[in-house]
Amino acid sequence: MPIRLEIVTPEKAVYADDVDMVIAPATDGYVGILPHHAPLLTTLGPGEFRVKKGGVEEVLAVFGGFMDVRGDRVIVLTEAAEPAEEIDAQRAQEARDRAQQALQAGPMSAAEEAHARASLQRALVRIRVSERRRRRL
Ligand code: ATP
Repeated sequence: MPIRLEIVTPEKAVYADDVDMVIAPATDGYVGILPHHAPLLTTLGPGEFRVKKGGVEEVLAVFGGFMDVRGDRVIVLTEAAEPAEEIDAQRAQEARDRAQQALQAGPMSAAEEAHARASLQRALVRIRVSERRRRRL
């Protein structure tokens, strides 16, 4: 019995398919979901969202939101979800370098620092996800 996975952002439905397993970046750490998982409602952090189906693993970067697990249905509502194939690794590396330079450059307001840290975190997630891409298990 597969899991029905739906990933939705404010812009579009990113993913809708029957899958074997999900590993999601919950705020408290990664959680694995197999069929018949207990009901769960959790917030998601920025991180790697892994989907296993038929011996293949797909990876997406997700940025916050919620995951609702009920029966064999997993609904993810997230700010953004980017499949590994759509991530431009070089752009993410440039964003990481810019954020690190800004953080090292010296005094900045709390808001600027929070912005740079969030940007760095997004870039690091994108780099990690783009390195994984789709692979056979
Ligand atoms: P950058 O500084 O490179 O613009 P960012 O973290 O500021 O990165 P976001 O504000 O998170 O970018 O995203 C803006 C838009 O650009 C979104 O649609 C996002 O999906 C896309 N995007 C950001 N970085 C990348 C990337 N490395 N590869 C592909 N799309 C990206």
